Amino acid sequence: MSDACDAIVIGSGPNGLAAAITLARAGCSVVVYEANATIGGGARSAELTLPGFLHDVCSAVHPLAAGSPFLKTLPLERFGLKWIEPAIPLAHPLDNGSAACLCKDIDVTAEKLGEDSGAYRRLMKPLARNWGNLSIEFLQPILHWPQHPITLAHFGILAVCPATLLSKFIFKGERARALFAGIAAHSFLPLDAPASSAFALVLGLAGHAVGWPIPRGGSQQISNALADYLRELGGKIEVNHRIENLRELPKSRAILLDASVWEFLRIAGQEMPSGYRRRLESFRHAPGIFKIDYALSEPIPWKAEACRRAGTIHLGGNMDEIAAAARDVARGTIPQRPFVLVAQQSLFDDTRAPRGQHTLWAYCHVPFGCSTDMSNQIESQIERFAPGFRDCILARHKMSVADLGGSNPNLTGGDINGGAANLTQLIARPVLSPTPYRTSLRGVYLCSASTPPGGGVHGMCGYHAARAALREIFGKR
Ligand SMILES: Cc1cc2nc3c(=O)[nH]c(=O)nc-3n(C[C@H](O)[C@H](O)[C@H](O)COP(=O)(O)OP(=O)(O)OC[C@H]3O[C@@H](n4cnc5c(N)ncnc54)[C@H](O)[C@@H]3O)c2cc1C
Repeated sequence: MSDACDAIVIGSGPNGLAAAITLARAGCSVVVYEANATIGGGARSAELTLPGFLHDVCSAVHPLAAGSPFLKTLPLERFGLKWIEPAIPLAHPLDNGSAACLCKDIDVTAEKLGEDSGAYRRLMKPLARNWGNLSIEFLQPILHWPQHPITLAHFGILAVCPATLLSKFIFKGERARALFAGIAAHSFLPLDAPASSAFALVLGLAGHAVGWPIPRGGSQQISNALADYLRELGGKIEVNHRIENLRELPKSRAILLDASVWEFLRIAGQEMPSGYRRRLESFRHAPGIFKIDYALSEPIPWKAEACRRAGTIHLGGNMDEIAAAARDVARGTIPQRPFVLVAQQSLFDDTRAPRGQHTLWAYCHVPFGCSTDMSNQIESQIERFAPGFRDCILARHKMSVADLGGSNPNLTGGDINGGAANLTQLIARPVLSPTPYRTSLRGVYLCSASTPPGGGVHGMCGYHAARAALREIFGKR
């Protein structure tokens, strides 16, 4: 174990590395302890199926990383990070063989929505113009003094609406409604729940501002670039070192945990005042996921031509079907036709598979802790929009809810977002406070996706937590 230092970070996920970099940039000596043999947490890549096929173990598509106000300030290109923008960021196929698409250009997106083209422009254009200001406002704790109150209020009124309600109110046609519902489904909320629209708006706007890019060489490249920059700043990383108890750590002035609320309770629950512990214990999980990575002999034979040029595909049919799947999952039932998210990185990145062959990344939402193998349901959804898909499969690698939890203590029960992102937990994440990163233990901060702004690879939780520690422990502004 390393010697005493200014700050210790537990976990090398995107938020742990962002926290460590923020501290190191301010002149602190930092050590990161990572339980896994590899760094990166939710941003890693590996040959999961066959030699020569490079798969993203967790995150694959990165609108939030490319648009992150913090990550944008780092010289990550110098450490090998290169973004690739697929021709079409997102396609959403329908049963009639066509597809609605999210394109970087709002007008191009709108034109293909037919009767809803005007409505789409009116919804997105004013918000997209203010993306820079907006992204700073919503990628921090909700309880803050806004710098752009009018822009934030405009966004907030729309964002707080249930996705099905907003979609029916704004759009008339199936295409626009399906596209909006598919993006809203990233929330893991029932689509009639308050704030489910927030995800459709944020991810849609990010698509227009920065696209839905993928890193050349896989998501591991994001983590490697962050780690290399941290080392250049003097930070250290120790892998294969799971922290079981805060008392086992060397002396430091601050400890930042890139751990979920539940892992934090496991490590330090006994030392917390009971009031704070009870507040953390009342924090609720999001549903889980079941994931499959495929090695394919050829590109997927999508019926809709647009899907053959898209980085991400949403498979769930129309809005009512997506809403029904989300409702089933929230009630603890397995949907027969789940909402499936697909990414086909190898179409745009030749480092992912042998020439002419391809990778496919896919997952569907399942109830928290669910032990069902969803391969059949996932493959049936892909076949529905790409007949002949099964004939292209060379190998599969499945990750059940249990496999996810075993691979990263933050993914218990298959929850990939560090806790549900319902309205209550968007406001109190994990507790109601303008500085929710600070815990009841002096010098101990939480910096994972269980803090604002929540799940996704953006590093903003780590950045804000480190800023709080710098202010409160090191007296640095
Ligand atoms: C299958 C999947 C697909 C996803 N797809 C996307 C996507 O396409 N785009 C996107 O933006 N986001 C995606 N996400 C979400 C994203 O990966 C996470 O929200 C993000 O990684 C959270 O970052 P984090 O730093 O908070 O935690 P993590 O990335 O989970 O990192 C936490 C790290 O801390 C370590 N750790 C935890 N406890 C301890 C301990 N006690 N001692 C030592 N180390 C510890 C873990 O091993 C892990 O390495 C996906 C997630 C999954 C699982």
